[in-house]
Amino acid sequence: MIETDAAMAETTAFISRDHKLFIGAERSAARSGRTIDVYNPATGKVITQVPSGDKTDIDLAVAAARQAFDDSDWSRMKPGDRERLLWRLADLIEQNSELLGEIESIDNGKSKAIAQGVDIRLAVDFLRYMAGWATKIEGQTVTPSLPFMPGAEVFACTMREAVGVVGAIVAWNFPLLLACWKLGPALATGCTVVLKPAEETPLSVLKLGELIQETGYPAGVVNIVTGIGHEAGAALSAHPDVDKLTFTGSTEVGKLIGKAAMDSMTRVTLELGGKSPTIVMPDADLTVAAQGAANAIFFNHGQVCCAGSRLYVHKKHFDRVVADVSDIAASLPLGHGLDANAQMGPMVSARQQQRVQGYIDQGIAAGARATVGGTAYDGEGYYVKPTVLVDVDQQSLVTREEIFGPVLVAMPFDDMDEAIRIANDSQYGLGASIWSNNLSEVHRMIPRIKSGSVWVNCHTALDPSLPFGGFKQSGLGREMGREVIEHYTEMKSVVINL
Ligand code: NAD
Repeated sequence: MIETDAAMAETTAFISRDHKLFIGAERSAARSGRTIDVYNPATGKVITQVPSGDKTDIDLAVAAARQAFDDSDWSRMKPGDRERLLWRLADLIEQNSELLGEIESIDNGKSKAIAQGVDIRLAVDFLRYMAGWATKIEGQTVTPSLPFMPGAEVFACTMREAVGVVGAIVAWNFPLLLACWKLGPALATGCTVVLKPAEETPLSVLKLGELIQETGYPAGVVNIVTGIGHEAGAALSAHPDVDKLTFTGSTEVGKLIGKAAMDSMTRVTLELGGKSPTIVMPDADLTVAAQGAANAIFFNHGQVCCAGSRLYVHKKHFDRVVADVSDIAASLPLGHGLDANAQMGPMVSARQQQRVQGYIDQGIAAGARATVGGTAYDGEGYYVKPTVLVDVDQQSLVTREEIFGPVLVAMPFDDMDEAIRIANDSQYGLGASIWSNNLSEVHRMIPRIKSGSVWVNCHTALDPSLPFGGFKQSGLGREMGREVIEHYTEMKSVVINL
């Protein structure tokens, strides 16, 4: 079913095992007994099954998380000990990088080198960064005027406290990394977690569950329920005993989760979709910009929330940049993630392959021209050929909607004002890159771009210390940086009448 190379023996054994949910101290099947098939997207074959948890399992997991938050060694643990545990978890992930990289590659389709060098590297760095925050969660002393307590002698301060039980729901494009983006701040601040990975890619998160146990986290601190979105995910997002929801996924589902959260005033942060512009200005280094634009869309096969999926090039360089990006696209070998020569893996699922190819077909039927790719892949696995579409405009469906695959739309512009106007002409606002060597122009553009991140002469430049999140329909709140701590804590004001 999967590669049986001796070096892969541990990975093969892990994938084939009888997978269980992590609920409190227990490892169990779903209470319903149901399972979900897990596919290798490079072959389209079923490689294993995981439990299909539903509301009953979610209720048990939330109860375990509540118990651990309210009354356990964890609830009494000192910040320095939470810091040490997070470091230990990061070390264990790093030590298991080879295994996790293979699991991620087989389950998601991404290259093992990317899984190790990007997903796992960023996850480890992020957990270590968050570990440092455990000991720096502070309030302030305040000198209030208190007009309704004339003459009172008071001591007043603010305290920042863990928000409580966190329900975390994540997408399939960076399965382990997205889970760690939720776990890092939760475990640094002293929260407990019920985590639901995407049904397409549950395996690396299940391995992570083992590493969390090995780290020594008390039972119930991290609970993992694999399951279908509208069952386990919906049950978690509607659960009245969850204090905070954190979600990474589509804007469509994000809105459902936001509405469910408001029913019980659950705190919520949403990391959603994007349609990020790559803007090549007249003074750009065109070779660097073309390579950057290609990386911005084709990295992780375009399955990146902030992928540079709209390319805007100044009219005098348009043909040259589009030709260069198309040449780069044509040179990317397709192949499965364990093939060291492959640079474009499959889409995560048959559904995703059909969706992405459907957008390409619709765009071409509506008048777009593919300078590279465009036609459907007809071999084994869920591949889509890297595609660049020209002869599109701002109203084209392929320009407006998030495709979430290796599909770039390219358009020329006349001047800076037009570039900014069309870059901002989107319901999304996650990231944007500007390629230019004109410092004054760049500084004028940055404040006018409506997105959570602006990158200059680079794209998708993420770092644990930099908050990441969206303007407009790309989300609510921020992950990473010091800002994320605020989303996992409550502020309390204290007044003591002396
Ligand atoms: P999705 O919204 O379909 O699924 C994401 C998660 O939500 C999965 O775990 C799924 O099981 C769950 N889910 C589905 N329906 C649900 C429901 N009714 N209630 C509760 N949970 C439910 O998204 P996807 O297709 O898996 O992921 C791709 C999307 O994620 C893209 O739009 C992409 O831009 C976005 N994304 C955003 C970021 C970011 O940081 N902004 C990062 C990665 C991916």
